[in-house]
Amino acid sequence: MAHGGSFSSLCNVLERVAITSKNDAKLKIIFSPELRKVCAGASLYPLLRLILPHLDRERTYKLKEKKLAALYVELLGLSPTSADGKKLLHWTDPTIVTSRAVGDFSMVLQEVMQYRSKPKASNMTIQDVNQLLDELNEYDPEAGNVMAKKKQVLLKFITQFTAEEQKWLVRMVIKDLKVGIRHERVLQFIHPDAVEMFNHTNDLARVCSELTDSMVRYVPQIAPFQVFTPMLAKRLPFGECTQAMNSNSFYMEPKLDGERITCHVQTKEDGSREFQLISRNGINYTEKYGPCISSFVNTQVHQMFDVILDGEMLVWDSVEFKFLSFGSLKSVASEQVQGKNDHKWLCYVVWDIVYLGGKSASTLLAKLCPTIKTETTNIMGLPLTSRLKILSAVLTPLDHRVMRIEQTLVPASLSPVERHERVMADIDKRLSAGYEGLILKDATSHYMCGEVGRKSQRWIKLKPDYAGMTRQLDVIVIGGYYGSGSRRGGAVSHFLLGVLERPLSENDFSVPVVSFCKVGTGYSMEELDALRKHLAPHWQPWEVNKLPSYFDGWSPKSDTKPDVWIRPEDSVCVEIYGFELTYTTEYQTGLTLRFPRLKAIRYDKSWSECLTMAQLNTMKGQQFNQ
Ligand code: ATP
Repeated sequence: MAHGGSFSSLCNVLERVAITSKNDAKLKIIFSPELRKVCAGASLYPLLRLILPHLDRERTYKLKEKKLAALYVELLGLSPTSADGKKLLHWTDPTIVTSRAVGDFSMVLQEVMQYRSKPKASNMTIQDVNQLLDELNEYDPEAGNVMAKKKQVLLKFITQFTAEEQKWLVRMVIKDLKVGIRHERVLQFIHPDAVEMFNHTNDLARVCSELTDSMVRYVPQIAPFQVFTPMLAKRLPFGECTQAMNSNSFYMEPKLDGERITCHVQTKEDGSREFQLISRNGINYTEKYGPCISSFVNTQVHQMFDVILDGEMLVWDSVEFKFLSFGSLKSVASEQVQGKNDHKWLCYVVWDIVYLGGKSASTLLAKLCPTIKTETTNIMGLPLTSRLKILSAVLTPLDHRVMRIEQTLVPASLSPVERHERVMADIDKRLSAGYEGLILKDATSHYMCGEVGRKSQRWIKLKPDYAGMTRQLDVIVIGGYYGSGSRRGGAVSHFLLGVLERPLSENDFSVPVVSFCKVGTGYSMEELDALRKHLAPHWQPWEVNKLPSYFDGWSPKSDTKPDVWIRPEDSVCVEIYGFELTYTTEYQTGLTLRFPRLKAIRYDKSWSECLTMAQLNTMKGQQFNQ
């Protein structure tokens, strides 16, 4: 029914809508399956401007009831004092119009035209009607008599349409269909963002041409150098995180501990590039951080494009070979500018692109997202997966200067249990690598600024809440794992921790220890160096047949299997804390600590004072809530 659909069918639909009481039922009649079939691939605009004529800003006929009545009387050759002439001219007067049509010009007109119009439905299409209405809208002052054109069109109404069809035509001209449905309901039906976009743009044609796919969302356009709050993540409990992603694929990213920065790059007329760095709160950091990274951004962002990138500013330490925490950002930026530091520098880690402009933007969009209308597409409205494709095309990462964040896709095809396991495994990995947590991002989600984004729950942050833990656990180092990297490599850097199977009684040193968890975070390099020195003489290689009997029956998986072991008497006690105690088959205790961190190395404590299995079980029962 779109362009080629018949106008008389549309009138029938409108009749039915008018007498249907419920909104949902009205919408179902308007957007029938047949209509959807006919409209597939075609724009809804020709139809919607007839159904929602008051939203059609392109046609302002300057014809209201009074004028229309006079024109009809004239064109029909009626005497103003005849019964029908009077009805048309005094359509609100109940002494003249005695039917229930009184007060409704279009209905009065229908009554008057009942025996004056053709009885059979017209064969006009929606396209024909739109053309006629365009003509009715034409205003050519040069033409002398401005009404002449309008009269020609109205004459066509009279001669080529039935009385009922004229009623609807006139309602379209008056811009009030009287079918009892709010335009918001109709717009919502065509796209979840149609109302918002119409409110911003006042442009029904644009709404119809841009919002054709509910996966492509409308977001008010952002331009380079405009301050906006970047999309925020919502914190959710671990148990709820995968459900929150619905059944969509999602990306897992480490949660970085730097400064949230959007990076704006635009090429000026003369070919030079303008560049700005803006923080989450709208502070311009171009002067502070710009000198450290602008040259890298300029070379790594393709010259043809203007972009706004979203990401985190961090400090890279090339000796420690890791990112440093937020605290050092400003001082390192100053040192870098002054040339004082040659092994620490700023690195911008990018995770999203929210604006794409420049000469080649529409060509790139047409290539990467062929189904999207390129010239007007706001890329914030694209699903994250598409934005990341664009990001790959416009940014060539440079290690430790301008990088892409590590993004691991968890596909929709996995079962909920598998998805949850993937997240838990990744968060374990990230936390033991020293990250604060994990961010999950719905791969189908569009970019929403600030709190709107947070409320949408399309980005979720997972951070263990260590605050809930009120007690530390005293445990003993019973094994070790070799580290990797320039500082941690070459010696033990992670530790297998154990507890006593039962309390030691006096002179009884035969009590076995049992494995409980593995820790690799919470200590400084200095603390690690001291601990390494302390334990180095006592490590023994992990050789299956040469292990103490208390490890009998334990067959750890590769990640948990230590490289070396140590006798408790030669070892040290450490204080650890974590997120929660959970059941496991991985360690001999049957319990382990999720996301363990080292609090202190207790050289002062004897191994005999460390926790026992029984105490651990009691703590599991209380789960640190005492
Ligand atoms: P909130 O942001 O909820 O107000 P907050 O300021 O304490 O709380 P965090 O809980 O630390 O912030 O998390 C939000 C911040 O996480 C963001 O502003 C952003 O800088 C940072 N962040 C780190 N990694 C990512 C990532 N991969 N994706 C999105 N944001 C990230």
